[in-house]
Amino acid sequence: MNETNCIFCKIIRKEIPAKIAFENENILAFHDVSPQAPTHVLVIPKKHIGSLDELNGDEKNLIGEIFFQIQEMARSLGISKSGYRIVNNTGAQGGQTVFHLHFHVLGGRQMTWPPG
Ligand code: 5GP
Ligand code: ZN
Repeated sequence: MNETNCIFCKIIRKEIPAKIAFENENILAFHDVSPQAPTHVLVIPKKHIGSLDELNGDEKNLIGEIFFQIQEMARSLGISKSGYRIVNNTGAQGGQTVFHLHFHVLGGRQMTWPPG
């Protein structure tokens, strides 16, 4: 999978429509096409990184920026007080199906533990 045929890179390039929740020069957040909670947003770096396992040391700041942006986005989505869950699936057994690093932000219902 590379930037040309990656589905999330296509969303970044606006070749595939998505309901965008937040965007800046480094980050895009959009609503999941198959929501697993009343609020289900995917937050991705605009740089194509295949998974957390492919993260380089010079991308550490980017992950910090993503998490800080999630905090602000959760407030604007109205789930910061009730609570929310951030999920990252890494690799096949981690349940990753789209190989462009992304963080699920789920809220609007009670989450359960353990995850399946
Ligand atoms: P993963 O299983 O890799 O952690 O999560 C991939 C997520 O991307 C899934 O929740 C899936 O519903 C979502 N997804 C896959 N294709 C599209 C798409 O074309 N548009 C949107 N908005 N979400 C997608
Ligand atoms: Zn990509």
